[in-house]
Amino acid sequence: IALGVTTNNAAAAAAVPVQPQQHMRLEGKVAIVTGGARGIGEAIVRAFVRHGARVVVADIDDAAGEALEAALGGACCSYVHCDVSVEADVERAVGCCVARHGRLDVLCNNAGVLGRQAAPASNGAKSGGIASLDAAEFDRVLRVNTLGAALGMKHAARAMLQRRGGGSIVSVASVAGVLGGMGPHAYTASKHALVGLTKNAACELGEHGIRVNCVSPFGVATPMLVNAWRHGHHGEDEEEGALPAPVSAEEVEKAEEMVRGMATLKGPTLRAGDIAEAALFLASDESRYVSGHNLVVDGGVTTS
Ligand code: NAD
Repeated sequence: IALGVTTNNAAAAAAVPVQPQQHMRLEGKVAIVTGGARGIGEAIVRAFVRHGARVVVADIDDAAGEALEAALGGACCSYVHCDVSVEADVERAVGCCVARHGRLDVLCNNAGVLGRQAAPASNGAKSGGIASLDAAEFDRVLRVNTLGAALGMKHAARAMLQRRGGGSIVSVASVAGVLGGMGPHAYTASKHALVGLTKNAACELGEHGIRVNCVSPFGVATPMLVNAWRHGHHGEDEEEGALPAPVSAEEVEKAEEMVRGMATLKGPTLRAGDIAEAALFLASDESRYVSGHNLVVDGGVTTS
């Protein structure tokens, strides 16, 4: 029996294509990355392009998006203005991608906002007072972080279903989608909802060969995080529709140090490139049997 099991395992292993580490993991694929003009999204765009994908960057930061297109070259990276909370924009971005490249294989729902929150409650609660919740602000954050991702899934799924070639949808959630107390209430709610949405879409789209997963980062010292921590609390200074204020190298270093101090895993600094590697894995055929999964990249924070 032992011999039989070994033989079967060997046969099964042989059937899984094993590739050398440096091969182009997205060769011939076409991807959309929302919020890809800056921060984690930009690192994802660069990783996808490096691995052979043609990428459409869908963002509201036109200057940064156009600069990235110029830096990477229009043939493999093009920019389209798209506010993910506006369905017509999302539909247009997917339409532009299919018109330009003839297909869509990968959608990365990365666009997100942290949201403003009222000052911490007098009981010392880490992330502010539910008693002073601002309904309009709550709605804004969920529209971008959750509805935006759902609209992306909707229009990407339509394009993928029409082509009948399967696909991969990867959303960037957060450790705030796993634990409480990691961000403003609306942000936490939006990311928990995104993790749930991912599971539902995975159940539904699996029979069509479309995998749906998310990546949940801990703190990466992007402008979003540095601005949020600048005054010691979450997102208070984020203005609706405004781009995060520039951050200094010292502030980035300080934020990275704080993140390092909070992680269970000692040593490495969590960088946007680490999130890009996780997204790349989920986007590529290397994760061909992974669906409905939340890949947490947090140095062990959520396990402690
Ligand atoms: P960032 O602010 O540096 O970048 C966000 C990008 O999204 C920007 O290019 C911005 O222009 C774009 N964007 C914002 N609203 C948009 C909209 N309505 N439509 C289209 N694009 C929009 O932030 P980041 O830190 O790179 O965050 C990227 C993702 O990672 C977000 O979903 C965020 O919630 C998530 N995340 C970040 C951290 C972190 O510590 N930085 C941790 C966990 C999760």
